[in-house]
Amino acid sequence: MSDPQPVYLSDYQPPAYRVTHTELTFDLDPAATRVKARLQIERQASVDATTPLQLDGEQLTLHALLIDGAPLANSDYQVTEQGLRIDQVPASFTLESDVELSPQDNTALEGLYQSNGMYCTQCEAEGFRRITFYPDRPDVMSTFKVTVIGDRQREPILLANGNPVEQGELPNGRHFATWEDPHPKPCYLFALVAGDLHKVEDHFTTQSGRKVTLQIWVEEENLQKTDHAMGSLKRAMAWDEQAYGREYDLDLFMIVAVNDFNMGAMENKGLNIFNSAAVLAHPDTATDNAFQTVEGIVAHEYFHNWSGNRVTCRDWFQLSLKEGFTVFRDQCFSAETNSAPVKRIQDVSFFRTAQFAEDAGPTAHPVRPDHYIEITNFYTLTIYEKGAEIVRMLCNLVGWEAFRQGSDQYFQRFDGQAVTIEDFVDCMAEASGLDLSQFMRWYSQAGTPEIDVHGEYDYAHGEYHLTLRQRTPATPDQVDKEPLHIPIAMGLVGTKSGQDLTLTLDGEKLGRQAVIHLRDDEQTFVFTDVAEAPVPSLLRNFSAPVKLHFPYSREDLAFLLTHDSDGFNRWDAGQRLAMLALDDLIAAHRNGVEKVMDSRVVEAFRSLLANAPADKAVLAEMLTLPSEAYIAEQQPIVDVDAIHAAREFIRQSLAMALRDEFMATFEANRSDDAYAPIPEQIAQRSLKNVALAYLVSIEDEQGLALCEAQFAADHNMTDVRHALTLLVHSDRDDLASPALKSFGEKWAHDPLVMDQWFSVQVSRPQADVIDRVKYLMAHPAFSLKNPNRVRALIGAFAQNRVNFHRLDGQGYALLADVVIELNRLNPEIAARLITPLTRWQRFDETRQELMRSQLERIQREPLSSNVYEVVEKALA
Ligand code: ZN
Repeated sequence: MSDPQPVYLSDYQPPAYRVTHTELTFDLDPAATRVKARLQIERQASVDATTPLQLDGEQLTLHALLIDGAPLANSDYQVTEQGLRIDQVPASFTLESDVELSPQDNTALEGLYQSNGMYCTQCEAEGFRRITFYPDRPDVMSTFKVTVIGDRQREPILLANGNPVEQGELPNGRHFATWEDPHPKPCYLFALVAGDLHKVEDHFTTQSGRKVTLQIWVEEENLQKTDHAMGSLKRAMAWDEQAYGREYDLDLFMIVAVNDFNMGAMENKGLNIFNSAAVLAHPDTATDNAFQTVEGIVAHEYFHNWSGNRVTCRDWFQLSLKEGFTVFRDQCFSAETNSAPVKRIQDVSFFRTAQFAEDAGPTAHPVRPDHYIEITNFYTLTIYEKGAEIVRMLCNLVGWEAFRQGSDQYFQRFDGQAVTIEDFVDCMAEASGLDLSQFMRWYSQAGTPEIDVHGEYDYAHGEYHLTLRQRTPATPDQVDKEPLHIPIAMGLVGTKSGQDLTLTLDGEKLGRQAVIHLRDDEQTFVFTDVAEAPVPSLLRNFSAPVKLHFPYSREDLAFLLTHDSDGFNRWDAGQRLAMLALDDLIAAHRNGVEKVMDSRVVEAFRSLLANAPADKAVLAEMLTLPSEAYIAEQQPIVDVDAIHAAREFIRQSLAMALRDEFMATFEANRSDDAYAPIPEQIAQRSLKNVALAYLVSIEDEQGLALCEAQFAADHNMTDVRHALTLLVHSDRDDLASPALKSFGEKWAHDPLVMDQWFSVQVSRPQADVIDRVKYLMAHPAFSLKNPNRVRALIGAFAQNRVNFHRLDGQGYALLADVVIELNRLNPEIAARLITPLTRWQRFDETRQELMRSQLERIQREPLSSNVYEVVEKALA
């Protein structure tokens, strides 16, 4: 077999044939489902009449093929592994096909598959070609009429996109339902679900007064876990009307929960399919975090109805067109429904840890890649999250009003079309009158820009000189980088007044906060009328996805931590201060020198606890040290053990020095109120639980007792899970074992809770973890075929820094074993799982060798194109 070949953006050609209408009939059977398709096909006027018709199709057995009712002879067409080719077709015709496929054997979870006996589909990006022969590309848009035939008993519910138009009984205990979707759509938005499902129903009246029926379909035992998703959906529908003027466009909107799903959820027109973990939530089983995730994902998929479905992507290189914009939209929605600064802090801290790492590794790619081998490998943090940061910069550059105008223009001009990123940015340029040509480089240039900043106060002239220099490091197949247009929101905080000073630049008064535009490799900005020496507060609210270096002293950072008017930068000053202390401790650990705690960090934390900001969720974030993964990102060579030791040292030193303060914080924030996933409660719980974590880190007897009591009180999953994690991650196995046991027994019937039980155990720092992973892989609740289980057990283990990176290489070998097995079952998940191994360049030589040898071992296997692409890049 030849190696998988890349596809190039520069090779894009519009489709030669369009499908104007699609009729499908599914006769469901676990091993032999039949799919009959009737496609109205038209040759594009500009295309030569001799152009053959090429349809995509994989793993299909073709039983019949007809054009305008006449069967084709075998010599009229060719079927390959990739699809079907008919050399001679009329300019306009009906193509009928009848194919067979086996949902029960589909472990890749792309196309039509079975999950817990229920039938469901996943077509994005290229899954539809596993359902029928079709031009499986997003720029072919068609109306659909779909009939689903199933067993009356086993599949009482038969769903597809759009509106139900007919249903009825058939012989042999079968029945059918027919659905019609009036909105032309690309086939990646097709969906079908059939099974023994139960629904909750609600309604939403749109701003123009149309009543929309909302349904959430789940297995019967999950009916009481749907309230939060339904509430989130209604909030999202209202928000999209108010913020973007976007109204829902069908009479019915359905969400279905399935247990086996590769991603979070999918925005199929009118029939969103969700990973059960992304939709089900109940106070007894889901944490605050899970509640917020559900809200965000429900909103995200709903928002796609416009940003993705009504206006879709021309080709998969434009993926960020829909994903970057939609993530930005869901981030804004969640910021408004919860605490805005905390949402931003959490998003950015995740982004700087995970996306920066991706951008610095062998799989780095631009937000609009120019080639790929396997598109499912490009559902990445870069496409989604960096894409969202770019849209956020655009919004800040042009201002909300112009952004909204540009957005209205985009939806109006391109409604029903498949378009490009230029089309979107052009709307913004038109609405604002700004020249965004340099800005477009954000889409084509990979890697995280680094900005070195130098600041100097000129006492004599009352001036502040700020010099910024940008560079973007080389990334795979992009060595030379051009300067980007980088908006930097900033202020100058007066060291005497503690206030933002008025900014005057080139004689123009800009107010107390301004955005400066870095466009050249190096630029100097001179602020005049600066009456007192300031500390600059730079990149406020993370105004651009860059690494900004400024030689802040610890005094500067302590000052910003209390005085910066930007909540995000106050938090960031605390993180930078902790990082300076961590750097010293990491060095001390490496050199075998005694570790000494920086008293400035202690004093900063003491004053935070004494003068708590009003938003408790912000305080909880400020009291949280940078994660080991984030610290690792800041080191030239990652020393796993030194990082762990240094972070533990700071944590415990803080806990000892501020023991009484943490205890008081814990006590002040306990509550017996009935659980609700509302911002005030979430904030209070997170602050209380941060305090408890400090107490338990030093095995404080009273703290441990409180932790045990919190576990036993069983008030809500947020508190129970947190207490369980603290016990299991402590060295007190006498307390951890009984807690784990009772939790495991209590929740044995609930897979989503068992996922938490798996993760908690395999993320502890103790050395027994590798054996636990192996033991748990044989647990009856575990299955390699279920992506959630794989993520909960194997994925969580690979995030366990000290244990995954064991010096004997056992962690790497275990991951490789799983990847090799999953490569056969589910290539998409297998390819994602490799990520931590691809980061080998960041480690010491011994680990580099060990990691590479596992990658090479994987490479020797017969590989799916998914795994092949990732391993090739990692070893290149
Ligand atoms: Zn999306």
